[in-house]
Amino acid sequence: MFDEEVALDMIRSSIILLLSEKPLHGYGIMKEVENRVGKPVNPSLLYPFLKQLEKNGLVRSTKKPVGMKPKNIYELTEPGKELAAHIYRRIASMVSLAIEPNLNICFHCGCKIYEGGYQENIVDKERIFCCVHCAQAYKNELSSVIHPSKDSRRRKRK
Ligand SMILES: [Zn+2]
Repeated sequence: MFDEEVALDMIRSSIILLLSEKPLHGYGIMKEVENRVGKPVNPSLLYPFLKQLEKNGLVRSTKKPVGMKPKNIYELTEPGKELAAHIYRRIASMVSLAIEPNLNICFHCGCKIYEGGYQENIVDKERIFCCVHCAQAYKNELSSVIHPSKDSRRRKRK
């Protein structure tokens, strides 16, 4: 069940959640992830991911002196904080699903769907949302997080 993709998503999610608590520099993120997940995060994974987040406007970095030399301190922007809130809600909704398996939960906002709901097939998976707007918001979020290269290319062309 825990394949590499899932593990990678968990590390990515935990980096975003960490940054929602406080701004950190790269090394601080590595230490904290190791403390919490029990596994070190590879710098070759961390820094490109932070760069992607920054490109997508989810994270901003500022150089601040830490010890002898300046380091990039990463913090979430407003859209980044929204993403962190979505991750929290999604985790909470998964727990609800586990204890109330007959309940449908909006895949985007995490609200409980007592009747109706809106279904859409996204990336070959049937997802349920509370409404069409949540489905659209989820797709927007997905494309900005998963396909950042397309966005940046589009931006450069302007
Ligand atoms: Zn919703």
